[in-house]
Amino acid sequence: MDTLQTPIEYLKGIGPNRANLLKQELNIFTFQDLLHFFPKRYIDRSTFYKIKDLPKNTSEIQIKGKIIDLKMIPQKRGKRLVATFTDEENNMELVWFRGHQWIKESLKLNVVYVIFGRLNWYGNRPNMPHPEMETLENFEKGFSKNLQAIYPSTEKLLSKGISQRVIIKMMGELLRSFKNSFVETLPDDLRSKYRLIDKNTALKNIHFPENQDILTAAQNRLKYEELFFIQLQLLMKNLQRKQKIKGFVFEKVGHHFNNFFKNHLPFELTGAQKRVVREIRKDIGNGQQMNRLLQGDVGSGKTIVSLMLMLIAADNGFQSCLMAPTEILAKQHFIAINSFIGDLDITIGMLTGSSKKTERTKLATQLESGELDILIGTHAVIEEKVQFKNLGLAVVDEQHRFGVAQRAKLWRKNSTPPHVLVMTATPIPRTLAMSVYGDLDISVIDELPPGRKKVKTIHRFDSNRLKVFKFIADEIQKGRQIYMVYPLIKESEKMDYKDLMDGYKSIVRAFPPPKYQVSIVHGQMPSKDKDYEMERYVKKQTQIMVATTVIEVGVNVPNASVMVIESAERFGLSQLHQLRGRVGRGNDQSYCILMSSHKLSTEAKTRLETMTATTDGFKIAEVDLKLRGPGDLMGTQQSGVLQLKIADIIKDNQWLKAARSDATALLLEDPQLEAQKNTPLRQTLAKMKVYQNIWNYIS
Ligand code: ADP
Ligand code: MG
Repeated sequence: MDTLQTPIEYLKGIGPNRANLLKQELNIFTFQDLLHFFPKRYIDRSTFYKIKDLPKNTSEIQIKGKIIDLKMIPQKRGKRLVATFTDEENNMELVWFRGHQWIKESLKLNVVYVIFGRLNWYGNRPNMPHPEMETLENFEKGFSKNLQAIYPSTEKLLSKGISQRVIIKMMGELLRSFKNSFVETLPDDLRSKYRLIDKNTALKNIHFPENQDILTAAQNRLKYEELFFIQLQLLMKNLQRKQKIKGFVFEKVGHHFNNFFKNHLPFELTGAQKRVVREIRKDIGNGQQMNRLLQGDVGSGKTIVSLMLMLIAADNGFQSCLMAPTEILAKQHFIAINSFIGDLDITIGMLTGSSKKTERTKLATQLESGELDILIGTHAVIEEKVQFKNLGLAVVDEQHRFGVAQRAKLWRKNSTPPHVLVMTATPIPRTLAMSVYGDLDISVIDELPPGRKKVKTIHRFDSNRLKVFKFIADEIQKGRQIYMVYPLIKESEKMDYKDLMDGYKSIVRAFPPPKYQVSIVHGQMPSKDKDYEMERYVKKQTQIMVATTVIEVGVNVPNASVMVIESAERFGLSQLHQLRGRVGRGNDQSYCILMSSHKLSTEAKTRLETMTATTDGFKIAEVDLKLRGPGDLMGTQQSGVLQLKIADIIKDNQWLKAARSDATALLLEDPQLEAQKNTPLRQTLAKMKVYQNIWNYIS
């Protein structure tokens, strides 16, 4: 008896060649994979149109009729094959622009065909280019005369003859060989709670739906099932993690923290900052190891929150580290934190890729003796060589620049893992956070410090450049500084590089020295040059910073009030939002000017419109999620959680919530799934692939 784990080549009609293609192109390795390879949509094969009633839209339609004439018609380039098709009352044309010979030979005149495809209309005359065709005889022998599944496919599969028809055949074969023997995986009470249909009916109808109602029922059942088991797995893992891994207890809030709070805090904390500090203090005092994501829009004041935690760590005799994704940022943190703590008795060091040997040696001694309280730096901080005496807290800034492997290194520094606080300005919609991170704790700073003015955002076409330059000159006149950002999506792209350099030259021409000074920073520069240029800008020695997205994260120059983004249509929403966050950090009104050409795709238009309409990072993230799907958002590449087979995190959000709450309730009652009635659940989980959660590496 075949099991679902049987390799796909053993299915009748597949064999090694096709199996290889299925593996390569669709990740289908086993019967199970094929069974869970779900259609992307369905088409209605039950309705036949009469030619005189054809709808004037471009949906796919189906007609029954005969070909009564076939001819080649020369056209500008090459020729086209045209068939006259009749439903016995009216005629229309079928057209082929390619593959003439083969089609001409295979078509038979005066035989009844079922044709299927989209229409082109020329005035009142429809024609159908490249129709799908089969003889009525074959059509009637076919699998599905009602709704027909359409599966995702690739060029390669099609060119190697694995057409929709072939996939449908394989599915039919698979379902026949199992004869309704798929094991039910959902408990009865959950099924009846949502009136979910049984597994066998669902699987059969998802591939070969008998009608729309049962198809919907099948989809609901399979979506719920998918989401439920993922949630169950995530929640169980997190329970286990919390039980297994002990954390350091930071029980007291002592001198360093109190002194800082009373005497050095340069401003009143916002309500959100206070709340977050409280949330985190609870977390690091309870004996569990903290894994917390701190989300807060750019400029919301995450740095000071992390500093306060590092002071608590110091109060409890622990060291901390703060890691930033770039050298510039590490330096900024170092400067900011030094100025925050003033004459407090705290020792801070900085370690980056360009730290000198002597500095490194000194740092190493200080770290190992425990003299150093806080180490700020780049990836260099987590190199194997760096040894702490007792690392108690690791803060990671802008986490999307850090890979799993890098974070994993943190854990090897101690036998007890440090508390981890990951700070990000990339807002993750709640829905997504829940499914990616399972039970990871999340804190949100959802309030900006008082007095911040919203950045005014406008969209201008390239043809208005002169006006934009005039505006820039006026702002510089007022003493402000300007960013001009060019896309450099892949830092190696020659074209982009040329655009950047041309842009730089034209800006220097429009803003000539000695009155104006222009800095430039891009990814191909050696890091010391970058730092030098950045520093000139920070010190107000230059008024304009021409840059690529290297300045995207974290850079803090409060006097900069204008962000001009060139070819803004080429940036993603989250990038645009990050870039805009570089201005609006001081007390002056700031501006973000999105430059684009007139040629805009619908998606690009939506992005630009979203940016001009709102500054709310969460709203922007929701739009981004809708446009791009979850795959590109931070942390999700590694997560795998989002590679769902049938459910859609956004559209099926209601099911996600239900699944999560059901899984939570179940685990509250039976955390290990030991009860007899939960055995099937345990077995299903055991067979399931492990959905990678970014925190999994620790368990
Ligand atoms: P981000 O969350 O983007 O990392 P920062 O921590 O860099 O933001 O803070 C942005 C700026 O706001 C800094 O200059 C910081 O000193 C200042 N800031 C932070 N919190 C407050 C507050 N409560 N009131 C006034 N200014 C604040
Ligand atoms: Mg920051």
